[in-house]
Amino acid sequence: MTDQTYASMPEALVVGVFDNHTHLDPSGVPGSEVLDYHAHLDKGSSVGVRGVVQVGTDVDSSIWSAELAAIEPRVLASVAIHPNEAPRLEAAGTLDEALAVIDELASRPRVRAIGETGLDYFRTGEDGRGAQQRSFEAHIEIAKRHSLALQIHDRDAHHDVIETLLRVGAPEKTVFHCFSGDADLARIAVQNGWYLSFSGTVTFKNAHDLREALEVAPRHLLLVETDAPYLTPEPARGRLNSPYMLPHTLRAMAAHLGTDVSMLAALITSNTEEVYGLWDAEPVTAPRDAYTDATFEMPPMTGSIRLPYLDDDPESTP
Ligand SMILES: [Zn+2]
Repeated sequence: MTDQTYASMPEALVVGVFDNHTHLDPSGVPGSEVLDYHAHLDKGSSVGVRGVVQVGTDVDSSIWSAELAAIEPRVLASVAIHPNEAPRLEAAGTLDEALAVIDELASRPRVRAIGETGLDYFRTGEDGRGAQQRSFEAHIEIAKRHSLALQIHDRDAHHDVIETLLRVGAPEKTVFHCFSGDADLARIAVQNGWYLSFSGTVTFKNAHDLREALEVAPRHLLLVETDAPYLTPEPARGRLNSPYMLPHTLRAMAAHLGTDVSMLAALITSNTEEVYGLWDAEPVTAPRDAYTDATFEMPPMTGSIRLPYLDDDPESTP
């Protein structure tokens, strides 16, 4: 990462929107500026980011995500074992145990999605693909059993992701998080009623394929996300990302589609609530509210805090 600090705030949106995929857990990027979840959410609120889906990538971060959603009204949780984590756990003989934890978390009230799960052929070699595939299919089953949305991570594995979804049957609400395909993949997703979630990559100068995909997607299947702390949109590409940077991506999408930013925000908000439900449908646990109860502290994540993609280039897709 070239500059491990946060950029200044964009101009606030007039109509608010949700960030449907972010990682607010302490990332531990060595030497980087640190914001706690309050700061991320407060800065987001001040520019019109109404709430987020906090996404887990392993057992610890999934528990953390579920516990944060239970106490913070602006947060819903998504829980999963990341596709690059699955082969590691399988090798250690603990993948089934980890999947059982995800299944348990899936029944908690403010956990509304299973993800990110899927296939990643960029970082996982041939030898890890069996475990990755098994983990992906297990996550699909958990999502269907609990009637939750599914957040797909697809990196260099478009064909096999689609094949798996069609063969085992996709959950009713399936989201391609950080959509990375072209117009052809977008058409396949759209035919199946799957949602396309665009991240800061859609603002990148050379991302012509992504913008073509954006054009072919019907508006009722569009979502927006940051995938913070990475994939920071222009004009702050290379800096750290946070939900408050979402307006840059939304504005770039609206400009490319030739539509009004507020209209697009309203539409994406409605799509987001369609997929995950309402942020206030289930109340947070009183009185363990982090704002009103000064004695409450988020439980620390146990074990090592390590996102599966930290050792890689900062602009790669988590
Ligand atoms: Zn992610």
